[in-house]
Amino acid sequence: MAQKRDYYVVLGIDRDAGEPEIKKAYRKLAIKHHPDRNPDDPTAAEKFREATEAYEVLKDQQKRAQYDQHGHAAFEQPGGPAGGFGGMGGMDMNDALASFLRNFGGFGDIFGGGGGGGGRGQGRDLQVKVAITLREAAEGVHKKVKLRKQVACASCGGSGGAHGSGASDCPECRGSGRRRQVVRTLLGQMVTEVACNRCGGRGSLVTDPCGACRGTGTVRGEETVEVRIPAGVARGNYMDLQGRGDAGEHGGRPGDLRVVFDVGEDEVFERHGDDLLIDVPVSPIDLMLGVKVEVPTLDGRVALKVPAGTQTHKVFRLRGKGLPRLQRSDRGDQLVRILAWTPEKLSADEKSRLETLRAGLAARVPAPGRGLVD
Ligand SMILES: [Zn+2]
Ligand SMILES: [Zn+2]
Repeated sequence: MAQKRDYYVVLGIDRDAGEPEIKKAYRKLAIKHHPDRNPDDPTAAEKFREATEAYEVLKDQQKRAQYDQHGHAAFEQPGGPAGGFGGMGGMDMNDALASFLRNFGGFGDIFGGGGGGGGRGQGRDLQVKVAITLREAAEGVHKKVKLRKQVACASCGGSGGAHGSGASDCPECRGSGRRRQVVRTLLGQMVTEVACNRCGGRGSLVTDPCGACRGTGTVRGEETVEVRIPAGVARGNYMDLQGRGDAGEHGGRPGDLRVVFDVGEDEVFERHGDDLLIDVPVSPIDLMLGVKVEVPTLDGRVALKVPAGTQTHKVFRLRGKGLPRLQRSDRGDQLVRILAWTPEKLSADEKSRLETLRAGLAARVPAPGRGLVD
């Protein structure tokens, strides 16, 4: 038997590659060399098998660690760590084909067959964006979202058959949606399953198609989905609602709906994760003498004492006045940044009174330098 190649070399990735990278590399190789795309090509079949074996090890953290430490030897002793491939030969072809199906759910989606998905007329997954305000995000909110999507055809009840005839099992695959195909490789003959070409993998055929949906069982329609948005969500967070995507053809499984939250900017508060920042302008005289200010928070106004001698840009922290933390019971903080506010115009009287203070204060200003503001 030929020397086993290094798994990282097989997949063409670095030793510190992350999971998405591993998956991407494998996916590319597996599609390129899959026996169904390369009939009667033993070299491609072996490359497919080898890549699948490498992927099965490297995608699993425990197996990957064992492989990194001991190399192929990690899986070669019969009494060795679990999860090997039953001896020196490595993973066999039937296991490789099964692994591929398990990881990528069949052909429809990976080869871009379109519509089919996992076969059996599964509906498409949909995505919708929901805009909410920062205050809605702070409290949690119910939103009604109107969706244009494929819905079950009312005329035929989603079966696709006219006059209640529905669909019958495909005679070619006897309703399984799959067809067996024998592939010859270097390692001998093996059997693989592909989507039935008569019924497109659905397993059923409509002999008398419904006029309203042209036999597909779905039509363009509208649905209003109620979404309960939990408190604390941020822009880009999402929620998957199972079965709320497009209806499946011929009564197949519906797709899922991903609801992505778009949290808008607030006029008062600036969001920093779970914390909120607000700027509070204060006159320089108040900063010198000290002052009590009223600060808006999500829970109403709060009094904050600004001590005498506070510098501009000083940040005070109001604990627990920020946004709720997702899936936790506590909240972030509100940060209050004090800014020295200077009037652009002064009356003659204000000017003359400030002039009397000017020279004395100017003499006490520190030299320019770093870190003068917190
Ligand atoms: Zn119909
Ligand atoms: Zn069929």
